[in-house]
Amino acid sequence: MVRVLVITGAGVSAESGIPTFRGKDGYWRNLDPIKLATPEAFARDPELVWQWYRERRHRIRDAQPNAAHEAIANLAQCADEFLLVTQNVDDLHERAGLAKAEMVQIHGDIFATKCSRCDFEQEQEQEHEQERNGVTRCTRCGALMRPGVIWFGEPLPSREIERVENYLQRDPCGVVIVVGTTATFGYIIDWALRASRRGGELIEVNPEETPLTRFATRLVREPAALALPSLVNELTS
Ligand SMILES: [Zn+2]
Repeated sequence: MVRVLVITGAGVSAESGIPTFRGKDGYWRNLDPIKLATPEAFARDPELVWQWYRERRHRIRDAQPNAAHEAIANLAQCADEFLLVTQNVDDLHERAGLAKAEMVQIHGDIFATKCSRCDFEQEQEQEHEQERNGVTRCTRCGALMRPGVIWFGEPLPSREIERVENYLQRDPCGVVIVVGTTATFGYIIDWALRASRRGGELIEVNPEETPLTRFATRLVREPAALALPSLVNELTS
């Protein structure tokens, strides 16, 4: 099978019970996640922001990968070369069997804890201690530790962008699947178009129309967990 790029967004995790930021379901204690997931909110009330992220971590730990995560992991096995770019900060793709080397978490990793000032990152084991103690400080520079995610208004991580760029530059893709993302970020459309630039198939899986729709060569208007198993079957047989 060909070279493949898959891009996933919140719609894929929503079917595992992880609430998306947009819409009523995303609200937490009557607070809008789009306002909580910002450097400003953290500067104003780090404890509040941490409480919200701790709850999200628990929720993700209790959740299970769904049929969409599993289908994507199967696709990776059959592809000549494969890369997943996900906007999701959970670990459900990984738990479905996808290797870290085959994925880029472009909005970060909710289970990582990093310094709000220097580049210090905390290891997974110490994280549990941190969860009991609320907001902790960096052992290197003393600044507050924060969740290892990208907040609204922050630039994408350059190291991760570089991994995507390298993959796109090396060769075009025969199949590009964009699933469960509203594609409101320009870079999603840019990457999808550049990956499929030489006649590759560009498949959008989303119940709703998105800004990417008009570029897609094929539209699947179904939720991810319903659509992906048969789509992957078809592509790999
Ligand atoms: Zn630090």
